[in-house]
Parts: sequence; structure tokens; C-alpha cells
Amino acid sequence: MRTESRKTSRRKFLKESSWAIAAASALAIAGSGQDQKAETAPSGVGAIVLLGPPGAGKSVQGRRLSERHSIPVISTGGRLRDHVKRGTPLGLQADPYMKAGKLVPDSLMTPILEDRLSQPDCQHGFVLDGYPRTLAQAEGLDALLKKNGVASHVILLDVPAERLLKLLAGRRVCPRCNRSYNIHFQPPKKEGLCDADGEALVQRPDDKEEITLRRLETYEKETQPVIDSYSRQGRLIRINGAQTPEQVATEIESKLASQ
Ligand code: ADP
Repeated sequence: MRTESRKTSRRKFLKESSWAIAAASALAIAGSGQDQKAETAPSGVGAIVLLGPPGAGKSVQGRRLSERHSIPVISTGGRLRDHVKRGTPLGLQADPYMKAGKLVPDSLMTPILEDRLSQPDCQHGFVLDGYPRTLAQAEGLDALLKKNGVASHVILLDVPAERLLKLLAGRRVCPRCNRSYNIHFQPPKKEGLCDADGEALVQRPDDKEEITLRRLETYEKETQPVIDSYSRQGRLIRINGAQTPEQVATEIESKLASQ
């Protein structure tokens, strides 16, 4: 059943190309000067790929981009953590890799992504937080976007290594709504509590120091080649990630606007 429905949704996604058409018409409307309700109408930006090392602030910027452009944000790490929490078969398979700071194999990742991109809310574009992380994932994604004629913007949040360690050690997340904070750089209004729902914040198990170092090694080995490849193709929008979240967001928007 599970395989059947995945196959069906994948086929639907690949064949119907509906989000490409919808994105194109959204662009046409935006270009025609008609008034759009910015809070609800997607901006027609297409796909935004957020790259950056663990702790660089991808989830915070993903959320902002999602709100600003009225498109969903797809966090592969968030989806995996949700499966682990619910104890699904996928979660049980992914958990040991995540606990070890390694990447979850593509055989598990590809269906997660394709299922999600086939949902109607991705028709007008989406933000990808945490995907692609390997050259194989990047090639698969590019082929899919090209086939569907969807523009993509690849953003790298560039953060020096020494700041990353502090960012990761200080990261706290809300177990209920998944909002993330940093005790050094972006503390919640009330210490230890989520601004949105008041839930007690926790540290992610993979933010413990020895796992953190492994995740940074994995990033260097697997994801740096993806960044180099986008850079060689002249597609990388490099953002200084060592600024406040507001400054990072402003730099992203101005560079997206000048694309
Ligand atoms: P971070 O970017 O801070 O490492 P994420 O929440 O994006 O955190 O990812 C947490 C974990 O989920 C990763 O360490 C990895 O095990 C797994 N993961 C997330 N996205 C992918 C992906 N695209 N491919 C393989 N594994 C992934």
C-alpha cells in the first residue's frame, strides 16, 4: 500500500507538472501589476534551496522566507524528527543515522521529498531546508525542477566554524512547534520557554558536542561538494550568516530581488 501510494504520488508529481504551471501563472500575475494579497498569495519566487552548515540558521530563515513568499517550507530534518517521535517504520530506520550525526540514506530520503513536493501546497513554489545534502540529491532535485520548468534560487548561509560550535551548543528548540532559539544570539523572551506556545525548550539530542563534530565532518565531506558544484555553475547566492537573523533576512531578500 505504502509503496503503491508513493508511486502514485510520484507519478502524479512528475507527469502533471502542475506546480510549474501554477508558478508560471503566479509570475505572470505578479508581472502584470495586479494587486496581490501579499499575506496569502504566493510571490511566484519558485523553489528556494537553503544550504548551510548545521546551526547556520536555516530553519529560522526558512520560516521567514515561507511567510514572506507564502510558500511552504520543507525541512527534511524536521520531517525525520517527526517520524522518529511517532516511531514510524521510517523513523525507526532513520534514527540511528541521525543519532550518529550521519546522513540518512537516499533510499529513505527521496520518497520523503517526492511525496511532499507532490502535495498541492507546493504548486506555487517551496523552500527547502536541509535538502540537497549530497551531489546525488542535488542532481535528482535539479532534474526534477528542470523537468517542471521551475526557477530555483540556491542560498548559502555562510558561517565561520568557530561561531557554528557556539550556535549549536546554544541552540534550543520547542518540542511542540519546532521553533528554534539560541541562548547566545536569539534567546526567547522568557528564559527557557517558547515565545509562541510557552512550552519548555529542549536541546536536540544531536546537538551534543561529539555528535555536533560528526555532523560538521559529514557536512564538509558530503555537502561542501554540492556547494562547490552550485558555485561553479554560477548559481550560488552567498549570504553572510554571521549577522543577526533580521540582517540575514534583509540580505537574502535584497539578493533575491536582484536575481
Ligand atoms: P542540521 O542542518 O542542523 O544538521 P537538520 O534538522 O537539517 O539539522 O537535520 C538533522 C539530521 O537529519 C541530519 O543530521 C541527518 O541525519 C538527517 N537529514 C536531514 N536532511 C537530510 C538529507 N537531505 N539527507 C540525509 N539526511 C538528512
